[in-house]
Amino acid sequence: MEQTIVRHDWTHQEVKALFEMPFNDLLFKAASVHRANFNPNEVQISTLLSIKTGACPEDCKYCPQSGHYKTDLERERLMEVDKVVEQARVAKEKGATRFCMGAAWSDPKERDMPYIAKMVKQVKELGLETCMTLGMLDNDKAHALKDAGLDYYNHNLDTSPEYYQQIITTRTYQDRLNTIDHVRNAGMKVCSGGIVGMGEQAADRFGLLIQLANLPQQPESVPINMLVKVKGTPLENVDDLDHFEFIRTIAVARIMMPLSYVRLSAGRNAMNEQMQAMCFFAGANSIFYGDKLLTTENPEADADMMLIKKLGMNPETRHDYSDEAYEASLASKVADKATSELFYQA
Ligand code: SF4
Repeated sequence: MEQTIVRHDWTHQEVKALFEMPFNDLLFKAASVHRANFNPNEVQISTLLSIKTGACPEDCKYCPQSGHYKTDLERERLMEVDKVVEQARVAKEKGATRFCMGAAWSDPKERDMPYIAKMVKQVKELGLETCMTLGMLDNDKAHALKDAGLDYYNHNLDTSPEYYQQIITTRTYQDRLNTIDHVRNAGMKVCSGGIVGMGEQAADRFGLLIQLANLPQQPESVPINMLVKVKGTPLENVDDLDHFEFIRTIAVARIMMPLSYVRLSAGRNAMNEQMQAMCFFAGANSIFYGDKLLTTENPEADADMMLIKKLGMNPETRHDYSDEAYEASLASKVADKATSELFYQA
């Protein structure tokens, strides 16, 4: 088998040429890269919980959690550690191997750090991988999270550097790159991707993928989100992105970042099963699982399991579980409403 070469010198012209390939050729190429590096019939499953919701001081135009916009979102303060751990336990029972905790902050404050560290430690003790998304991190906080045992930190680049100013004005692209740098220097794995369908040009989608792929080390996890248009946010009426363009974005991300997990994230609710299947073929191999992705709806967790089964695929975790446990997770009603309200997106 040919050895995979991970490149960090992608150019605009090369990426444009990939996007403009005939659709079937692009998918074949992406699927070939995928199978050379992963089991194409396995999908990694993560669950995401909002540990602090709303009233964020940042002004990300797509986000219902921003305090700058009037949305129907209910604000919640930082969740108690015990409640977070209980949700993590439920997520594990449902087949998740990674538990992501997200807080709508510009950055975590000193006073929050002891609680955050406790959460990481206790969730990890359940045998789950841990991931957090808390906003910007300086060097000290990145090291504190690493010391608490955090495996992954999520910090998205969102879009191209050129389009970024249209989307966020309260922090810079360089701030984002600095946070990713601090996460790397502290020895944690990086989860970073972006959102498409925000009214950007094709060149901005190229630009986003170039930024991610050309980082000194490519992110281990690359979430590709399709904008979920939320009423009250400035992007609520933006034009839809053509679904084939979304699938192309997944395929090109797979080719450019051959060893990364490419994650289907927010926006899956607007995709039918056939489209999701095509995304898996194009190289997506990770999903968020649960009734809610951040504050927007996510396909019912049961429906996810049924789709995975229909496609003859397995959750990547299956090897860690008995077949009985897997079958039980397929058969059981996944979430009761009382707890499912807490699931959300990154
Ligand atoms: S995306 Fe994150 S940083 Fe931006 S407004 Fe929403 S919660 Fe705040």
